[in-house]
Amino acid sequence: MSEFDLIRRHLTGLGAGRDDVLLDVGDDCAVLRVPAGRELAVGIDTLVAGVHFLPDCDPAALGWKALAVNLSDLAAVGAEPAWATLAITLPEADEAWLAAFARGFGELAAAEDVRLVGGDVTRGPLTITVQAHGLVPSEHVLRRSGARPGDLICVSGAIGDAGLALKHLLAGEPVDGYLRRRLERPTPRVALGEVLRDLATSAIDLSDGLLADLGHVLAASGCAARVELERLPLADQVAAAVAEHDDWSLPLSSGDDYELCFTLPRTAAAQLPVLAAAAGCPLTTIGEIEAGAGLRCVRADGSIWTAPGPGYDHFG
Ligand code: ADP
Ligand code: MG
Repeated sequence: MSEFDLIRRHLTGLGAGRDDVLLDVGDDCAVLRVPAGRELAVGIDTLVAGVHFLPDCDPAALGWKALAVNLSDLAAVGAEPAWATLAITLPEADEAWLAAFARGFGELAAAEDVRLVGGDVTRGPLTITVQAHGLVPSEHVLRRSGARPGDLICVSGAIGDAGLALKHLLAGEPVDGYLRRRLERPTPRVALGEVLRDLATSAIDLSDGLLADLGHVLAASGCAARVELERLPLADQVAAAVAEHDDWSLPLSSGDDYELCFTLPRTAAAQLPVLAAAAGCPLTTIGEIEAGAGLRCVRADGSIWTAPGPGYDHFG
């Protein structure tokens, strides 16, 4: 099976059909039409075997996740996903593996109206890079830098699920279906990003843990924050793990949540239920932006919880 056979068989025609694709997989470049009044949002993420996923993980889930993490970045700037490219490095031409990978990737791509329009296939240690392209109305881009003192801090869904699933997997312990899905098939909050465009003052997607990612918002916005720990949206399993040792690292510092964290002017608080209904996911207020610098995590009794270490850093 040659490189070109693999591409033709498994990586052609993947995802949604879109009439803004002028040149698809099979030519030297993809050629794509950006409509007037829209800006092009571009993000890229690499998944390395042994670093971002366990080498023996389900290839269909990996295909889903490789796209999902990129769509999560598009959601964080309020962009509507449109196109993706895929650079894949494989140790060998394992057709069954690639077919399953393409199935998982294609499933999410079709669901989110994304077309796979090109890429590259090389041989080497298993590595997957996806670049996602989205469209966002001019003047409506969500940024990290717009949070202001008094704004509410909100998160979508629940946090810490993927961290707990990974902890169980690494310990050789059983993982229930909910936690496994949250780790392997995260739901990018695309619809939420779109409805936040006109309301949120800032947004970021949670890939490295709430402390690190909210920290980026605070740094970009020049603000401080207070997070109320008892308000964090936690699945029962995560809440139980936290309660066991009063250790909040799981929801605050473990990665791979792929939820959105955003700030809203206090005057928009009443809109949260409307936004949640439009986005199809729960939204929870977890704290408030303050003047100054730094992030305080406050327990229900008013005491401050201090993180034992910083979030994940590839070079840290
Ligand atoms: P070139 O040699 O001109 O760079 P390639 O041989 O790398 O082209 O790729 C041939 C065609 O297949 C191109 O249209 C390219 O975008 C597409 N392609 C290659 N790898 C992938 C992939 N992993 N996913 C989707 N399309 C791919
Ligand atoms: Mg090439």
